Amino acid sequence: MYLNEENIRKDFPLLSREVYGKPLVYLDNAATTQKPLCVIRKMEEVYSTINANIHRGVHYLSRQATESHENARRTVQRYINAASPEEIIFTRGTTESINLLAATFCRSQCKPGDEIILTTMEHHANIIPWQIQREITGVELKVVPLTKEGEIRTEDVEELISSRTRLIALTHVSNVLGTINPVDEIIRLGHNYNIPVLIDAAQSVQHFPVDVQALDCDFLVFSSHKMYGPTGIGVLYGKKNLLEKLPPYQGGGEMIAHVTFEKTTFNELPFKFEAGTPDYAGSTALGEAIRYIESIGLDNIRRQEEQLLRYATERLLSIPGMKIIGTSQHKSSVISFLVGSIHPYDMGLLLDRFGIAVRTGHHCAQPLMNALGIEGTLRASFAFYNTEKEIDTLAEGIERVTKMF
Ligand code: PLP
Repeated sequence: MYLNEENIRKDFPLLSREVYGKPLVYLDNAATTQKPLCVIRKMEEVYSTINANIHRGVHYLSRQATESHENARRTVQRYINAASPEEIIFTRGTTESINLLAATFCRSQCKPGDEIILTTMEHHANIIPWQIQREITGVELKVVPLTKEGEIRTEDVEELISSRTRLIALTHVSNVLGTINPVDEIIRLGHNYNIPVLIDAAQSVQHFPVDVQALDCDFLVFSSHKMYGPTGIGVLYGKKNLLEKLPPYQGGGEMIAHVTFEKTTFNELPFKFEAGTPDYAGSTALGEAIRYIESIGLDNIRRQEEQLLRYATERLLSIPGMKIIGTSQHKSSVISFLVGSIHPYDMGLLLDRFGIAVRTGHHCAQPLMNALGIEGTLRASFAFYNTEKEIDTLAEGIERVTKMF
């Protein structure tokens, strides 16, 4: 392995706990990651040393809290290499970021009959907001099919492009299949037709470097809690010239320049999209999570997780009846699987009794399950703090459950 697991695991207090008297084997990292002590401490530090409402205050604490929030914005900007901090909008997470974009984009940039292209492997967070806007604004949704390996082909995206296409919105990495989509190619394709592209990076920014300027994506969204940061905060990145064209999403404090009952003018970016008191404790702790990731090194994280994925794939495939769902050559550290005719829920419940946390079900991707002709899967998703020994425990657990059936 590339990283010293023992040292790394010490950074995450939760990883040393037991469940049912057994050491916890936490393999549900695509749902949320555990938090390093520095992030937990940072939350505590904000509330115990600088807590005050931000932006509006002249007093010392308010200015310190404001600085902390705005520093976090610059940390996020640096992490994804955005051109300026104004392009970083803090939201509650990926879901809110996509809802914000769908509502403001469809309202201002689309006419009835205009089209948004999605893919079959989207998380519900990148489907339902567009369906809500279909009801309100009359946009239509086009859906890119999957190959049998669970991949999206750029030529299949091109097939769906028409003179009415206004946006292509797709996930960077599938939370079910693990497939890493060729987003660079799809962004170039979109731009050839003057179509902006939204990347759902909820499953990518924690695994490998994502550079929004190199990708040239127009919008990109992610959640802090999936990248070792706190829950309740996330990011919408947008190119400045595009964000400027969009109307505000929610109204309230912070997002205004001047208010009368007759007319209100709006604040500039990024504040136009951040109505109400922002989560400055969350943003500060997200900044800390990013510094933590950088201290380990994203390239080291990627290599460690690639090795875990290789090891787990081989080990799981040695189990009779094992079927891995999602067999792309370009995968992140997520393995969905089924074993014989055992229902994923039954297998998940029994694995839990051995202390093994995996996810079961449709993983908020029911249209993908329909396309695959299955109800659900088990899913093991790895972070760099997982070990080959934990993968052995998972495989032995599956073998024990298989024997029971
Ligand atoms: N998009 C993808 C690909 C995801 O995996 C998830 C969460 O699992 C989301 C969106 C939604 O993220 P959140 O619940 O943090 O808003």
